[in-house]
Amino acid sequence: MSQTRVLVIGGGPGGYPAAFLAADLGCQVTLVEHKANPGGVCLFQGCIPSKALLHVTRLLNETREASEFGVEFAPPKIDLAKLRGWKDSVVSTLTGGLGQVSRARKVRMIQGQARLEDAHTALVRRSDGAEEKVSFDYAILAAGSSPARIPGLPSSKRVMDSTAALEIPDVPGSLLVVGGGYIGLELGSVYAALGSKVTVVEMTSGLLPGADRDLVTHLAQRVGHKFHAVHLNTRVAEMTEEPDGIRVKLLGLDLPDSTPKFDKVLVSVGRKPNSRELGLEKTAVEIDDKGFIRVDRQRRTREPSIFAIGDLTGEPMLAHKATYEGRVAAQVIARQPSSFDPKAIPAVVFTDPELAWAGLTESQARSQQREVKIARFPWSASGRATTLGRNDGLTKVIVDPYNEQVLGVGIVGVGAGEMIAEAVLAIEMGARATDLMLTIHAHPTLSETLMEAAEVYFGHSPHLVGRR
Ligand code: FAD
Repeated sequence: MSQTRVLVIGGGPGGYPAAFLAADLGCQVTLVEHKANPGGVCLFQGCIPSKALLHVTRLLNETREASEFGVEFAPPKIDLAKLRGWKDSVVSTLTGGLGQVSRARKVRMIQGQARLEDAHTALVRRSDGAEEKVSFDYAILAAGSSPARIPGLPSSKRVMDSTAALEIPDVPGSLLVVGGGYIGLELGSVYAALGSKVTVVEMTSGLLPGADRDLVTHLAQRVGHKFHAVHLNTRVAEMTEEPDGIRVKLLGLDLPDSTPKFDKVLVSVGRKPNSRELGLEKTAVEIDDKGFIRVDRQRRTREPSIFAIGDLTGEPMLAHKATYEGRVAAQVIARQPSSFDPKAIPAVVFTDPELAWAGLTESQARSQQREVKIARFPWSASGRATTLGRNDGLTKVIVDPYNEQVLGVGIVGVGAGEMIAEAVLAIEMGARATDLMLTIHAHPTLSETLMEAAEVYFGHSPHLVGRR
């Protein structure tokens, strides 16, 4: 039996920053995590390995497209083992660093699996086989999420989830990606660049459900060239393993009776919270019908001693949202005033082009019947985009017509993921379209498109005629 002021269960981008901050604020902290180092899905099986591979993807695509600028590269030779090794080294550098930082902060890290026994006790099955009861004043649940499965699919090495796909065991000749969300599109892009013939099927009528359609159109055009096929309004009815592939019955509007065969299938149909194995039934913690833990603005559950953060508490299931919630929970436990009340949580799809948004989207404004004005600046009029040979972009601002406050921003184009930070700051600071317009942006940069979109709002962009 051990005793701690704060027990954090799960060492992902929600749990480890919460543990570190709680320690910085003077609490004695114990962090229980399956793996030997902190990092969670984001560092081990998500954000970081996927972005390392997407960096290589972009390099491959750029060398292939350089012929348009009069520069020819020989076809690349891909050493898969070395690529995998490099990606793994990125992960181990970052997670190893977090292990050191954790020790330096005197956070007690236990490798193992924790389960609550009541509102102040957890049983930890340690990785060395021993069991330890940990009694705590406060617990922060940060156990994250796992890939959702489609019931009835065969269990086969040919059928991968995102974790298996990131291992890049091989480059299949043909790959079916089930699900046109960000994970499917990002990993599909990696395999397409490495040489697979990639087909994407998406059940709804468009890729990236939730993102504004005008932004998605730009992305879909380029993705359409990189992927073998994209089938919308299509679902997987059946999958059967055959000696040389997976036979898939697809049902869709444009595929009345299709049963193509693929070397491999990547199932990326969303993620579900890891709330079932935590012993919540022994506490007053409540979950909703999807398994997400209900929390208030301070990330407190219905059990006063227990907080929950990150993917466990619902959408958006993103690392930076988990980290922010971790900060709130740690501050509240340390008796500091704090609340989870962001005006904008950025979302970035790291495809090529990247797609990013923050704050109110156009589709949300429409569904809320909220009156907004929207100004769009197409990258065909951007000097920087033209120098990059990448005019396939769009920046739009969503503005409150009564007080000109910037409510939302959407960007599609190379580097959109970095550019969205300015938009988040603008929204959080309550900036008006005038503020964006009157802020001098360096030339020639892609960030100018944000200023120019604000200029479009006022009807006098120097590079566009007669737009409002
Ligand atoms: P997790 O990161 O899931 O961490 C939970 C941790 O808890 C895990 O390490 C697990 O081992 C541990 N754990 C669970 N149960 C227990 C238990 N009972 N005892 C002990 N330990 C336990 N988000 C972004 O913001 N940007 C991206 O680019 C991005 N890319 C992604 C790409 C992929 C392929 C995937 C799968 C996800 C991606 N995400 C991205 C989502 C992001 O990874 C998650 O939103 C984020 O990791 C959630 O953090 P978390 O702390 O809530 O939980």
